[in-house]
Amino acid sequence: MCQCPELAEILLGDDEIISSSPQHPLRGFDEVDWNPSQWACLNQCPECGQLWHIDIAKGNQIGICVKVVDQAAWQKLDTTYARVDLMVQKHGGLTFETCKWRQCNKNCVKGLAFCPEHAYFEMDIKA
Ligand SMILES: [Zn+2]
Ligand SMILES: [Zn+2]
Repeated sequence: MCQCPELAEILLGDDEIISSSPQHPLRGFDEVDWNPSQWACLNQCPECGQLWHIDIAKGNQIGICVKVVDQAAWQKLDTTYARVDLMVQKHGGLTFETCKWRQCNKNCVKGLAFCPEHAYFEMDIKA
């Protein structure tokens, strides 16, 4: 049996991680499509038909896999905020400190002087 129904909507991983881990739940899926501009492919579970966006491994960027409902949804998928969330999780969450960015009063990412958006987009902290 596949594990798709129990898996979260977003998982860490990319095509290289999947092909190098024999136990990976997304291993052995059929490639349905790929999108060079997004640096990603669309794979389908042969058992339940669930579609998954899978990042193609790229430099120091965190790879992610995301459940998608159909091909049209995949074309429109924006993984930016999922990546911001993962960066925050990796740093251990948020603190009650206030972001140092001018006129920003959001909470900081743990260990950083900036909120998630300013850390990710302005300070280029992607991981
Ligand atoms: Zn499945
Ligand atoms: Zn901020």
